[in-house]
Amino acid sequence: MGIGTVRAADPTDESAGCVDAVGPGYVDAADSVGAVNVTDATDTVVSSSAASAPSLHSNVAQVVGRFAPSPTGRMHLGNILASLLAWLSVRSQGGKLVLRIEDLDDRARSGPWDALLMDDLRWLGLDWDEGPYYQTDRIDLYADAVRRLDDMGLVYPCFCTRAELHAASAPHASDGTPVYAGTCRGLTAAEVVARSKARPPALRLKVPPVQGIASSRGPFESFASESKHSKTELTDFGNSMPRELTFGDCSERGTRGAAASRGAAGGDAGVMHFEDRTYGPQREVLAEECGDFLVRRSDGVYAYQLAVVVDDADMGVNEVVRGCDLLGSTARQMYLQDLLGYAHPSYAHVPLLVAPDGRRLSKRDRDCDMGVLREHFGTPGALLGRLAYVAGLVSSPEPRTADQLADGFSWSAVCEHRDNIAVEECFFA
Ligand SMILES: [Zn+2]
Repeated sequence: MGIGTVRAADPTDESAGCVDAVGPGYVDAADSVGAVNVTDATDTVVSSSAASAPSLHSNVAQVVGRFAPSPTGRMHLGNILASLLAWLSVRSQGGKLVLRIEDLDDRARSGPWDALLMDDLRWLGLDWDEGPYYQTDRIDLYADAVRRLDDMGLVYPCFCTRAELHAASAPHASDGTPVYAGTCRGLTAAEVVARSKARPPALRLKVPPVQGIASSRGPFESFASESKHSKTELTDFGNSMPRELTFGDCSERGTRGAAASRGAAGGDAGVMHFEDRTYGPQREVLAEECGDFLVRRSDGVYAYQLAVVVDDADMGVNEVVRGCDLLGSTARQMYLQDLLGYAHPSYAHVPLLVAPDGRRLSKRDRDCDMGVLREHFGTPGALLGRLAYVAGLVSSPEPRTADQLADGFSWSAVCEHRDNIAVEECFFA
């Protein structure tokens, strides 16, 4: 079982699989960059795969990165930078890149965006070695993963409405997003049955409670056994669902690392530590920053965090490069990796690009989207050279191809410019 079905990859062939997924949103499930949902566009992850899924590569030393766009609109400048850095990192290490179209959400299946995304990547000279793989072809793998988590007693149905989740009384994370309060964690089987008649539930994954964090007992068994229903009915549910919680900014998170030095994947259950290549050591307490999180929405769509983790493991991704708006989802993904027995990939988050006035670039406003940029710059080299200059990768703005930028590429240049990057007026047509 490896990677689901591969569709025709030729982006110039409009008939080849371009219809289901949409483009370049590069949004990871978390709507980060403004209204643009970029799904992990640049997430690249690799790791060992699940026991049942043979790794795509047997050479453990090979770097496997990924482009993982959510095609909800045309790529914009932030997506391009994240894609460029994912590509440069992999190419400069002699690794390979996988293209995965994250089209689980309806919005990502209703436009020409996946075809445009691939056309734009090719135009930029950012090629890939495998794919495109479409998440909608891989649903069975996500279902299996949720079943495994449910077998551990860690999954339960949640009937909360969005309004309930955002209630003023709800606890909030450091960035202001609501933390799930565990409202539905203790429902009895009878209550679940009764409520299911009125509203299809989402499925949530338990995270270890804060008070259990310092405990020396084994990872998850104690709180898993608290579950009143050991198994959740994993039937199909209907529609309407609370969006995944997400974290926003990262320039502030860059300093978080001061107290976090245990390195990747160390620590107690529910406290995730990792070293971000750009933002340094990170530490996050799941119970405080998100609480029990979604693995499947009430409309039956598997949550971004779950799908990404399953796919990265199955595809052998061991290096994830993506926009810093996704930095906050890393801890949840690592927690899932631990539970499912997957290795942690390395993570590098890419600084956020903002307009000259400081606001976030937005797909909605068509700020710097690829249609505009291709027309404006004329050649990929002109665009990439200018973008690399703005991002601090090179010292002058002259045209450069992706291959030329790969020569001498180093993450240290990115780290030195990890605060939000204001793009110059010249990017706006
Ligand atoms: Zn609930």
